[in-house]
Amino acid sequence: MSQSVCILGVTGSIGQSTLKILQQHSEKYSVFAVTAHSRILELVEICKQYRPKIVVVPSNKVDELKQYFQNQNLKNIEILSGEAGLIAVAEHTDVDVVMAAIVGAAGLLPTLAAVKAGKRVLLANKEALVMSGELMMQAAHDYHAELLPVDSEHNAIFQCLPQNYFQTERNGQPKQGVSRILLTASGGPFLNHSFEQLQRVTPAQACKHPNWSMGQKISVDSATLMNKGLELIEACHLFAISEQFVTVVVHPQSIIHSMVQYVDGSTLAQMGNPDMCTPIAHALAWPDRIQTHVPALDLFMNQHLDFQEPDTTRFPALKLARQAMQSGGLAPAILNAANEIAVAAFLKNKIGFTEIPQVVEQTLNQVESGIAESIDLILQADQVARSVAQQIVINKGN
Ligand code: NAD
Ligand code: MG
Repeated sequence: MSQSVCILGVTGSIGQSTLKILQQHSEKYSVFAVTAHSRILELVEICKQYRPKIVVVPSNKVDELKQYFQNQNLKNIEILSGEAGLIAVAEHTDVDVVMAAIVGAAGLLPTLAAVKAGKRVLLANKEALVMSGELMMQAAHDYHAELLPVDSEHNAIFQCLPQNYFQTERNGQPKQGVSRILLTASGGPFLNHSFEQLQRVTPAQACKHPNWSMGQKISVDSATLMNKGLELIEACHLFAISEQFVTVVVHPQSIIHSMVQYVDGSTLAQMGNPDMCTPIAHALAWPDRIQTHVPALDLFMNQHLDFQEPDTTRFPALKLARQAMQSGGLAPAILNAANEIAVAAFLKNKIGFTEIPQVVEQTLNQVESGIAESIDLILQADQVARSVAQQIVINKGN
């Protein structure tokens, strides 16, 4: 029987790649629900092609969408709105698989709803896990959800871990013969820029990643290395491993997507051309494998695999994220919220590129952390951090 899929964030880069895979395997998967925050015309095109049963948009877009649906004869597609709509489709009884591909904190509650409904959740929305950490992991355990990583590095690590890895206690120690995780980073488009050059980086330059084509926010995060910082936190939660056992390795070719080292001296790597269709297909079909259009790696074309240590002086975001993970509690949620505000301000030319980590650091210094006991406390910390970060942005006043 075919699996019914809900795509949260269908108009985004991950959403589009997901549709590509679903289209290629339409006998195995059907699109039940899709959600979008903007780009309503693109959403209408998606609806024409995939005929979902339900779509979710923000409340202020409902009338516009209804109009399009009437004109295009799509009247039998149900329209839901707002956060309640996102949660409703994420936990819908007719849904088997949820692709969590909303960007940022906005994805937290819908992703958590999918987890609590015991779905197979394909996790692209790393910010949701960075914010909620152990609460999300505990919910996945309690509600028997299959939380599978789509982020290419985490998907690679998942593929390199031993099969019995998840059967034992979650205590932060490497286990089942694993000794260390090597999280690879491309280093972004400004790997070799001096600090002075970094100060002059424009939003357009920061949004152009050398190896991956992605949404604006994650592109900027990749350029500051905050993306790797968020991924470090993501890895600690997904694989129940303390941050001291996760080493970040800059590997500019993005051919190795991450590695796992074992006590016997083995290092296992997952390699492939940089295309998100591979990890999406892997998580969708796991433990089976399905075909994608991604060409097999041609090793004769890629003669160099280079590795270097990250420079946290020019790219302090990575260090801030590691510190936030060490502090634990609400610190990662505060870090994430401040970063979302700082990136949005940078994209609007309100602050410079090198001011992004400064806003994050100052917010972390000003907002009191605490134990991340509940989702409400996490959402509160997120709100406080946003307003503090916003004020810091205003004070920087470009
Ligand atoms: P994107 O900006 O291209 O798309 C984001 C999607 O989320 C869009 O469909 C948008 O409509 C929706 N959205 C945005 N704000 C929203 C809000 N407030 N409420 C509801 N929906 C909202 O982003 P992307 O590159 O597809 O990334 C999505 C997530 O996947 C991010 O968390 C990112 O870190 C992660 N991720 C992306 C890639 C990649 O290659 N693009 C790789 C790994 C992980
Ligand atoms: Mg990644």
